This record gives sequence, C-alpha cells and structure tokens, in this order.
Amino acid sequence: MERQEVSCPYCKQTMARWANPQLTNWSGEFQFVCLNDDCPYFVRGWGWMQEHFSVNASYRHRLDPVTGERGPLPVWSPEALRDNILREREENRHA
Ligand SMILES: [Zn+2]
Repeated sequence: MERQEVSCPYCKQTMARWANPQLTNWSGEFQFVCLNDDCPYFVRGWGWMQEHFSVNASYRHRLDPVTGERGPLPVWSPEALRDNILREREENRHA
C-alpha cells in the first residue's frame, strides 16, 4: 500500500500519524495530526483558549482518515500527544 501523506491546510507541513487512544469512538487506528509548533492554527489556539475558557491550552489540527472529518485536538502543552506518534516500525506492524 502506498504511504499516504497529508499536509496541514494551515501550515502546509506534513501531518504526523497519531495513534488513537483506547476507549474513544474514533473509528480508525490513527489520525493525522499537525504537530508543527509554528502552525498558525496551534499558535492562535493558545490565545483563544485563554480568552474563552481561561485555561492554558491549545489545539492541533486533526484529520480522521476514515471519515475525512477535520477538527481540533485539544492539547495542554507543546509536548502533549507526542507519545502517541506512530513510528515506522509500529506502522509496519499495523499494515
Ligand atoms: Zn499545521
């Protein structure tokens, strides 16, 4: 199967494969998530969350490859989510 590459519509960076946590209702095994710390979507999210919810958090752009649904994935720090990024070896195991 050809490796699918998806780029973020906000910053044009290649989005990472992010393994879905257990016990969610997301259908696939992973989602594409933009992990670029300079992504305008992520950068302006901090101010938005502070203004609307008075919390120090933001969100990253997410794409569900199964449904095509796009949306925000909340994060509480720039390091959040990184543990779930799929490495090549793990991808092959899923293939
Ligand atoms: Zn981005």
